[in-house]
Amino acid sequence: MTFEPLGLSADLIRMVAEEGYTEPTPVQAAAIPHVLAGRDVLAAAQTGTGKTAAFVLPILDRLRKHANTSFSPARHPVRALILVPTRELAMQVDDSVHTYGRTVPLRPTVVFGGVPIEPQTKELRAGVEILVATPGRLLDHVGQKTVNLGQVEILVLDEADRMLDMGFLPDIQKIIALLPARRQNLMFSATFSDDILRLSGSILRDPATVEVAARNIAAESVRQLVYPVDRDRKEALLAHLIAKEDWRQVLVFTRTKIGASRLASYLDRRGLEAVAIHSDRTQPERTRALEGFKAGDIRVLVATDVAARGLDIEDLPHVVNFELPWQAQDYIHRIGRTGRAGATGDAVSLVSIDETDLLRGVQRLLKQAIPWTVEEGFVPDRNAEPQPLRGGPPEGRPSRGHHYAHRNAGRPHSGSGARH
Ligand code: AMP
Repeated sequence: MTFEPLGLSADLIRMVAEEGYTEPTPVQAAAIPHVLAGRDVLAAAQTGTGKTAAFVLPILDRLRKHANTSFSPARHPVRALILVPTRELAMQVDDSVHTYGRTVPLRPTVVFGGVPIEPQTKELRAGVEILVATPGRLLDHVGQKTVNLGQVEILVLDEADRMLDMGFLPDIQKIIALLPARRQNLMFSATFSDDILRLSGSILRDPATVEVAARNIAAESVRQLVYPVDRDRKEALLAHLIAKEDWRQVLVFTRTKIGASRLASYLDRRGLEAVAIHSDRTQPERTRALEGFKAGDIRVLVATDVAARGLDIEDLPHVVNFELPWQAQDYIHRIGRTGRAGATGDAVSLVSIDETDLLRGVQRLLKQAIPWTVEEGFVPDRNAEPQPLRGGPPEGRPSRGHHYAHRNAGRPHSGSGARH
């Protein structure tokens, strides 16, 4: 399938081709025609599915009809409002609007918290047609009367589930009350939870529902592996694995901000350049950390689920679950950061006895047992070893752990041998 049948204008298709995309992703193929037709859309799509272009491209096409080049700010009211949960996602979506819209005479901008408000105020005053915003900072601007939302034609709620998780519902409701009643609404969410369906029921009118099959995260391209380990040995095991396997770009997930900071300093003290990225960090700090990571100056990025959400890092060779997430679904989000686009990736989980139930939950969701191995020197206390669902790879039978199982074969203190 190509982009042509979707109904986008020729120059947008050219922009897409210049980005190197030859065919639409499933969510793009399913959503773009509905958006172009002016319908409300409820789409289940997580980061990495190409969802941003699925709304940015048709929005550009719909709005361009009345685009103008007037110098008067009054001629450039906000016509599309894109609400996102985090600053990182805001910057990413804004980038996409600039990239795809470079031939379209519409003014885009982005506003988010954690940075000075004045430069944003100046841009808003000059007139902006496409506004990407986090809810809190947008309401600050509304309070200062620097932005008027009375002419919004299209509202997008991106990562709506995450916005609800982060407590943005009251802000979203306040913002919606400022919009014209007649408008097009697009809602993107990784999951269709009851809360999401309730929210969509109150905002969307007769929406087209787009559900694309979740990427098969258990695909061969992602090698999953569990290391049973005592809780108080996790830091040491992680440092050991990074050094031994010579991992160069590792994203490590912790459950808490404090845990992220502590782990990053631990690794850093051992000469493994590590930075924690979480919501207490200032925007420049986060941006610097992300850039250092992408450039290879920072070897380990430690993040909480909330902080990692919306980070534009998708093609990682190694993802580590320092702790399993409370929600099994988050495991899928986390390991979805690796093994993209034909590349192979490792998703390693360090699991202590108290996480046995969480591991079961993950395996139930995946409908498969994750192979495990015990690292030499980190054999957990015999009674403390978690029991993976159906006991991991049955002894003597080759498992999906392929090379891991082989690598450890014959070592006295590793693999299933440690369980005797
Ligand atoms: P998103 O889910 O919007 O965060 O997009 C994930 C990644 O896919 C981004 O890096 C996009 O640039 C890329 N992308 C978007 N559309 C396509 C496409 N049709 N083909 C290949 N890559 C794409």
